[in-house]
Amino acid sequence: MAKGDTRVAIITGGAGGIGTAMARRMLVDGHRLALLDIDGDAAARVADTLNHEVGSNSVLGVAGDVSDPGQCDQAVSTVSDAFGQVDILVNNAGFGACHIRPDGEKNLLTLEELTPEVWGQFFATNINGALHMIRAVLPGMKARGWGRIINVTTSFFTMLRSMPYGATKAALEAGSAAWAKELDGTGVTVNVVVPGGPTDTPFLKPESEMDPAKMLKPEVMGPPIAWLSSDAASNVTGQRFIGGLWDPAKPEAEAIAAAGSAAGWPDLAAATVIWPD
Ligand code: NAD
Repeated sequence: MAKGDTRVAIITGGAGGIGTAMARRMLVDGHRLALLDIDGDAAARVADTLNHEVGSNSVLGVAGDVSDPGQCDQAVSTVSDAFGQVDILVNNAGFGACHIRPDGEKNLLTLEELTPEVWGQFFATNINGALHMIRAVLPGMKARGWGRIINVTTSFFTMLRSMPYGATKAALEAGSAAWAKELDGTGVTVNVVVPGGPTDTPFLKPESEMDPAKMLKPEVMGPPIAWLSSDAASNVTGQRFIGGLWDPAKPEAEAIAAAGSAAGWPDLAAATVIWPD
């Protein structure tokens, strides 16, 4: 990518496994990044490490809880003060079953465990947080006629398996498809990126009893994130890319075709609606 195409991105949950891997890949293209994380110390630590790796001050660690709209607005102001504006938003912060019980991905949370408080915690971060962040960055993106919103959901398999995590990610997937349509023509695109299966990060605890060696690596998210952040993807919206299916060894068009499809479930939606004339 030409350096002229460099942008400013916020990656929520940027101190985590996938957030850090995406940040490391985006730095290769010269973007400036803010890692927004509820764990502000971790965000600062990861930012220091990445700045040290690239020998510049391109990464800012920002403390903030995406479930709080005021903290989202504040984070966007902080990043805009530091870097001028926000061009790319990666909604990656996530709350999973292992946050409630370390073995929650192996022995799924039961209805008895889904108190209103527990249920609300998942929705507060995974879907409400994404909405608050989008609303915080959107005015600037629309005014400039350029913006990228990239939502990290999960595999369709997981959406139907693990509650309420799956429901929150299905909501973000549906929102991605709907908001891509709403923003069509504004210069702001909305797309989804997922790894494609269990991924070796602190999100899954050892009690989930999955062999890390057999899991996807968070680096699989790098190529689709890099491409969606580039000017080459200006006309791409309402799409979903599976990092684990993107083969960087293939020509880009082939890799994109193998990893991409429409966000959500548009075929199912079109086939089953009875809409009044
Ligand atoms: P991770 O636990 O390593 O990172 C998640 C980060 O989000 C953490 O740094 C955490 O502090 C931060 N966070 C949590 N709640 C927050 C909040 N309210 N505000 C701000 N930051 C918050 O997990 P990961 O595997 O890197 O997950 C990143 C995303 O990928 C999540 O949305 C997750 O649902 C999704 N995902 C993960 C997997 C997997 O198997 N690891 C698979 C599919 C999708």
